[in-house]
Amino acid sequence: MTRPLLMLDHDGVVVDSFEIFTSSFAEACRRVGLPQIATGDDVLALFDGNFYESLRAAGADDAQIREAMRRTADVLRIAMSALRPFPLMPEVLAELADGRYLVIVTSNAGDVVERFLKRHGIAGVAEVAGAEAGRSKVAKVEALMARFPGQAIYWFVGDTAGDMREARLAGATPLGVAWGWHDRERLEAAGAERIAETPADLLTIVAPELAADFLGTG
Ligand SMILES: [Mg+2]
Repeated sequence: MTRPLLMLDHDGVVVDSFEIFTSSFAEACRRVGLPQIATGDDVLALFDGNFYESLRAAGADDAQIREAMRRTADVLRIAMSALRPFPLMPEVLAELADGRYLVIVTSNAGDVVERFLKRHGIAGVAEVAGAEAGRSKVAKVEALMARFPGQAIYWFVGDTAGDMREARLAGATPLGVAWGWHDRERLEAAGAERIAETPADLLTIVAPELAADFLGTG
């Protein structure tokens, strides 16, 4: 039997990448002529909606976006050893994979995500839909949902307001995590159906039948 689909964002959900991403992306923006994106708050604001649309709205053209992302992905590949998963996320993903078809839907480069998962021995992610698969999370989520028809609920686990909004637009149910880039209030204002306080809480919400076993309460 096919496992039900479960979609997750990568940065801020699986990997604790805020400092490295923000500093390398702001530096890349400076280099390509986008000095208006300079601080952590500037970068965070881009994730209030679709990351690429926000960049366009901030005045970036396609060539600048491509070059800024290329430079950032290069830094992330080099800095891979400094990137860590959030505590307990690898274990929760391994447990979830027993009962769910896990797909990471991200604005980051797919190979950066694949390398990270491999390096940290994170098993269970069936697919990665990265930037090369499209810039719209709405379109990527819609395409995935069409492959798994008839589910009562399609969770999308994210850490930014943009994730919550794109998930809603696609018809999925957004779940915000409290350990990511945007805080609870920002996630709830953008339409989060639930907020997971911890990775164990995430497991309890999206797969209660697996959680009892994992948490030793079964
Ligand atoms: Mg994120």
